Amino acid sequence: MQSRWSDTEAEAAVERYTKRGTNLDVALCTYATRLLGSDKRLVIHGGGNTSVKTKLPELDGELVDVICVKGSGWDMASIEPAGLPAVRLAPLRRLAALDSLSDEQMVNAQRGALLDADSPNPSVETLLHAFLPQKFINHTHANAVLALTDQPDGDIVCHEVFGARLALVPYIMPGFALAKRALAVFKDNSAAEGLILLKHGIFTFGDTAREAYERMIFWVSRAEAKIAEAGRVTLAGVHLPKAMGHARPKSFQPIKVAHPPASAAAVAPIIRGLLAIDGGATDPRRFVLDFRGGAEVLDFVNGAEIARYATRGTATPDHVIRTKPKPLLLPCPDADDLDAFAAGVRTVLAAYRSDYQAYFERHNARHQGRKKPLDSSPRVVLVPGVGLFGAGASKAEARIAADLAETNVEVITAAETIGRFEVIDEADIFDIEYWSLEQAKLGKAAERRLARHVAIVTGGASGIGAAAVKALRAEGAEVAVFDLDLARAEAVAKPAGALAIGCDVTRSEAVKAAFERVAEAFGGVDIVVSNAGTAPQGRIGEVDEAVLRQSFELNFWAHQKVAQAAVAIMVRQGTGGCLLFNASKQALNPGPDFGPYGIPKAALLALMRQYALDYGRHGIRTNAVNADRIRSGLLTDEMVAQRARARGVSEAEYLAGNLLGREVTADDVARAFVHLALSPKTTGAILTVDGGNIAAAVR
Ligand code: ZN
Repeated sequence: MQSRWSDTEAEAAVERYTKRGTNLDVALCTYATRLLGSDKRLVIHGGGNTSVKTKLPELDGELVDVICVKGSGWDMASIEPAGLPAVRLAPLRRLAALDSLSDEQMVNAQRGALLDADSPNPSVETLLHAFLPQKFINHTHANAVLALTDQPDGDIVCHEVFGARLALVPYIMPGFALAKRALAVFKDNSAAEGLILLKHGIFTFGDTAREAYERMIFWVSRAEAKIAEAGRVTLAGVHLPKAMGHARPKSFQPIKVAHPPASAAAVAPIIRGLLAIDGGATDPRRFVLDFRGGAEVLDFVNGAEIARYATRGTATPDHVIRTKPKPLLLPCPDADDLDAFAAGVRTVLAAYRSDYQAYFERHNARHQGRKKPLDSSPRVVLVPGVGLFGAGASKAEARIAADLAETNVEVITAAETIGRFEVIDEADIFDIEYWSLEQAKLGKAAERRLARHVAIVTGGASGIGAAAVKALRAEGAEVAVFDLDLARAEAVAKPAGALAIGCDVTRSEAVKAAFERVAEAFGGVDIVVSNAGTAPQGRIGEVDEAVLRQSFELNFWAHQKVAQAAVAIMVRQGTGGCLLFNASKQALNPGPDFGPYGIPKAALLALMRQYALDYGRHGIRTNAVNADRIRSGLLTDEMVAQRARARGVSEAEYLAGNLLGREVTADDVARAFVHLALSPKTTGAILTVDGGNIAAAVR
């Protein structure tokens, strides 16, 4: 690991921050914190913290000693000076004289000493930083350091590598007791440049921001060298190319991988369906998945000893709130027998849930039964032969779980290289998982109505499709935007935080591949807005047969291909689903010379009813929206102008030519799709969004 400190960049950062009124020390601390935070080998997703002791003015201008320490909720990689709230040092230091302090008292004392009452809560490790005398202090959960300390004899290994220059602090959960112990250890080792918190992480000190930063890099590099010296090994030994320089040790064997192993896209819906809480009910609490299948991950999940090394616990304690103490370990899926795999998942998942409940009850007893159980669903799923999945209420949460799982793969692989991976015991893990100050990091915002759902919108790059993408995202759904034109799909998907997939929905292979990408990206699908369409014209007695057939390809067959691919996944998930078709008033109230458009759309209504009939027993609802006169890709500006002229009215009058006298927009249609997605007892229905047109009313 190389130092990435640059005096030029540090000066530029200082100039930028101090211009806005930030104190010089805090500006330097912000620069160093970002440097540390941007290296995933040191910290990820809110882990770690930094501090600086300086002087800031009280309201009367008098300077007071403060510690500016990372605030809860800030990520080191993107921290700003506001993420380092200033806390008056004297009241914090007086706490060191106390024998005990509850978490509530600690949080209250920290908040009470804030210079600005609007600041975020200072880190749960604030007192540790405050009690120590050094000006700049950095704390990370560096992978290489964890690999050394996460050993049965981690203290001996650390002493060998770090000597007396880093003093060792035994494992104690963060808070007042750890802060006092760290201070006592430092007093006995006052020449130390930092601390190793056994089974937790590393602290380094410095008189300057640069010194504290470079000591972190120096000592983490030492730990990396120790691991490299052992010759990096692999746990299964079969999947890593020789070129990567991995040697296969005698002690590790690969598992027997099924031939052919199933793909991530094939197993994801099975896993996702079974993870859902109360699976099979009308609206289960689903999870969104995030898949990882790199060489290191495969080596990890394919090791014969996976049940031992993968279920000891998390590499550093605070991962537990996002990953649970243990991952779910599945059997290796055989592509030719997914039913057997599903049965295997069901069995191990039931065991996982009852183990988790037993773990909760065992340790809640120590807390006089005061804790409330969290859900028993795993957040990391290991699949030999395939890879790993992170699971969460959203794609963002699933990604965090998967990132942490990959960090654990790296730490555990390194720990097994030099010895044997071992972490804090189960009681300590429980105390972190159920610590109110850790749970507070997760936030408790109410979920949006379509959170935990995955939706696909075809023809999603424009008009009604693009409006549906936005509306579904606004309700919290994860969305995949299918469009013939990938660049245009990306233009809609990116700002909405959706996934763009180029797909010609008239081609079976393209539809299959696109659905596989969605299953791999999110774990499956719950809602499909089958919207792609075209509006060819022609007098039916004279129209070229090719025009009619082409229209059937997109306005009927593409819907069938999409629906077929969707129900295959939905049935595998076993948690119901929702198919939504964009029909048209042409299906109900044909217009002259619009046969090539209206006839396949009429067939589409029949298709919708058939899916409702055949898949209702799987909880799959199927509905259509009948919209009319929506300015979009099908009804172009030019057509609007032409029709308005033909009727001798203005464009606005033409568009509002309905019973309500109001123009209907793509957003109105999108709202109808969302409404149908949220109506758990509605299937086989047509919802009209046309401002009122009696001739097109559903009879
Ligand atoms: Zn920590």
